[in-house]
Amino acid sequence: MIKSKSRLTHADRVLQYLKNKDQPLSAYDILEGMRSEGVAAATTVYRALDKLLSIGLVHKIESLNAWTVCCGSHNNKTPVFEICNDCGYVKEHLDQDFTNNINNLSKRTGFIPDNPVLEIHGRCGACANNYLSA
Ligand SMILES: [Zn+2]
Ligand SMILES: [Zn+2]
Repeated sequence: MIKSKSRLTHADRVLQYLKNKDQPLSAYDILEGMRSEGVAAATTVYRALDKLLSIGLVHKIESLNAWTVCCGSHNNKTPVFEICNDCGYVKEHLDQDFTNNINNLSKRTGFIPDNPVLEIHGRCGACANNYLSA
């Protein structure tokens, strides 16, 4: 089903905007980028992001204070993000063993994670090669 542009919700439009970018964006970047589409208030963007987060379509990368589109179906797996400090490459991974370990930890400690996301900073393969050969 194709919705006409005017009938898309703000959440739909923010999701579409993020999908067209290949890197995570701050709410401010989204707002700036969507001004030409008539989005003028930060609260509009935040509300849209909250909605998308609650239905699992986007993730917030806390260490970058930025938002990115979810890679797809999680099936309750905990996402792991690799974040390159040099080029800004960000990739979401889903790993069952890792998820089991997080779940086991929670069972042992009784800690209830909100919305577990692991963020790993470092160098992506391409940047690591450049670094080593420099
Ligand atoms: Zn995801
Ligand atoms: Zn890199």
